[in-house]
Amino acid sequence: MVIIFKRLCPAPVVLLALLAYNAAVMDRRKKFLLFDIDGTLLHSGGAGRRALGAALCEAGVAAEVVEAISLAGKTDRRIVLAALRDSGHHPAALPGLMADVLESYLVHLAANLEERPARPYALVRELLAAVRERADMEPGLLTGNIPAGARLKLESARLGDHFSWGVYGDHSEERSDLAREALRRLQAGNGGVHPRDVFVIGDTCADIACGRAIGAVTIAVTSGFEPAAELAAAAPDHLVPGFRQLFDLWDLPLPRLNS
Ligand SMILES: [Mg+2]
Repeated sequence: MVIIFKRLCPAPVVLLALLAYNAAVMDRRKKFLLFDIDGTLLHSGGAGRRALGAALCEAGVAAEVVEAISLAGKTDRRIVLAALRDSGHHPAALPGLMADVLESYLVHLAANLEERPARPYALVRELLAAVRERADMEPGLLTGNIPAGARLKLESARLGDHFSWGVYGDHSEERSDLAREALRRLQAGNGGVHPRDVFVIGDTCADIACGRAIGAVTIAVTSGFEPAAELAAAAPDHLVPGFRQLFDLWDLPLPRLNS
């Protein structure tokens, strides 16, 4: 059939037809959407920073060290370990101290979110609902949060029902390791997944870097914590102001919005 087609058609036409066929096949393959949480799906109104700060202060970390901590794109483990190391704690004491800090962090986080719930960014809830209707799309989490912290934030923003799996900050201090683990699990559970069928969506350059580390399609939203110019310099596959553009990208029906 292909031979007859090649004899009947000039080479450029054959090439275009093959490209179109490949594009159609790629379009039909299942897509895996890996979302960062803070600054991407929701804004916790500083609850995470306040809770972590309170827990670190209880562990003897000086207030100025806590204030200087940058959270964006980092895993919870990395943040806590760096703060404890900077405070001069003995390396042998770090694992025990970290466990104490993270336990206290969850208590403070729950209290903070109770007082002021996290809020999802515009159209996040609608997009996740639209994805749920698609058999060829599966959402997951790729986040530096420890699992219990992620759950508290998502439930506070009423987004908890949309995710059945994820890779969290308890897996490694390095965000790229989280992405590698996510791809490993996807490929083990789905009979081989092409990295370009995996989308990493986040609000920091660290999200872009970890997505690129596994060859995924990277999407940076400028509605989060890092300046748009810095995100643009990191050259994600897609740089978008918010979730509105993701409806177009994934051919999802836009919800009716009250004007
Ligand atoms: Mg983030």
